Amino acid sequence: MRIPKEMRAWRTDGEGHRALRLDTVQVPTPRPHELLLRVRACGVCRTDLHVTDGDLPAHQPWIVPGHEIVGEVVSVGARAVGHAVGGRVGIAWLRETCGSCRWCRCGAENLCPESRYTGWDADGGYAEYATVPAAYAYRLPVSGADLELAPLLCAGIIGYRALCRANVPPGGRLGIYGFGASAHLTAQIALAQGAEVHVLTRDPGARRLALDLGATSAGAADGRPPVLLDAAILFAPAGELVPIALAALDRGGTLAVAGIHLSDIPRLDYQRHLFHERTLTSVTSNTRADGESLLRLAGRLGVRATVTPYPFEGAADALADLADDRVSGAAVLVVED
Ligand SMILES: [Zn+2]
Ligand SMILES: [Zn+2]
Repeated sequence: MRIPKEMRAWRTDGEGHRALRLDTVQVPTPRPHELLLRVRACGVCRTDLHVTDGDLPAHQPWIVPGHEIVGEVVSVGARAVGHAVGGRVGIAWLRETCGSCRWCRCGAENLCPESRYTGWDADGGYAEYATVPAAYAYRLPVSGADLELAPLLCAGIIGYRALCRANVPPGGRLGIYGFGASAHLTAQIALAQGAEVHVLTRDPGARRLALDLGATSAGAADGRPPVLLDAAILFAPAGELVPIALAALDRGGTLAVAGIHLSDIPRLDYQRHLFHERTLTSVTSNTRADGESLLRLAGRLGVRATVTPYPFEGAADALADLADDRVSGAAVLVVED
């Protein structure tokens, strides 16, 4: 396969998503343990906004965002095992961990202090080509459209970990606060597993999508669900919803905060928000095992992403639409041949 020397890539310099630039740069050379992919689709995640807009500290002076990458392997490093040219693989947010710290050694590589991330520490998928350490690349099923698989790679995986962290009892009542890309995939898994789902979001379009997918109720983000909840997941990056969601929990319930970034949490009241053994927990990245489980489950349960496609040239528009809540489901960049 002929690999060109140059490619088009969207890059940010930390001056905000409106300063994202489409540049011509060198196609990266994979290191011995890496794969080179021709990018076919890349999901647009809220974390990309946190990277471009400086909510997360810059790790590189210039960075290509994007960490929901579906691509075709076009080159395999000399020490990259388990992958072959022509395979369809996914690149996700977790890019590399140290493999030797106490978290890595006990199955909690998501907590590795040396972990590195795609589209933050290393260039991501808003480009025609991207590299990935082979050990962190996901083999994807041969069926399924690229643009429907892309959102699974972060929105799907992080939502799945959040669902696990929320400890929904069998047949339990799950509240979902915020209903974007991650939430609409997570709701499908929870419903397929027998949970009763209540969605709370400010966007009327998202409320309609929630009901279409089978949610029992869909109301305003700061409203009260019709029943007390056994578990809740906060997807909206809005700290002011934390006490509201905690107050909606039944005794023994858990609130999992799924985002990497959250605005300030207002003062909590011990009796109203935490007593009766309610649990408040965060969700930090994911392990590769989470990713493998989510991809397997999504296939078995028929989880389908609702996708708003954008041409590759429209990356800046996609981020602006996401920032202004104009995206239904998941925004995905589609890279044409
Ligand atoms: Zn480690
Ligand atoms: Zn993401």
